Amino acid sequence: MMPSTLTRLSGPLAEKHPQSIMLSPPFLGSQPRAFYKDRVVLHRRCKDCKFVRRKGRQYIICKTHPRHKQRKI
Ligand SMILES: [Zn+2]
Repeated sequence: MMPSTLTRLSGPLAEKHPQSIMLSPPFLGSQPRAFYKDRVVLHRRCKDCKFVRRKGRQYIICKTHPRHKQRKI
């Protein structure tokens, strides 16, 4: 263990961290509309979820619940 290197690293890191946290706001409330979850397996989560095929990829779109949108990896 080298505590001296740890304290030396924590200096500049501690200064940069709060800034990067402030630059990336938390996505808790409303999500951007084109937000797809990458899934291995797609699942319909409600009756409005629909399978679509774009550019050779499979997507699920949902007009009532935008967070249901998924994209197959
Ligand atoms: Zn849905």
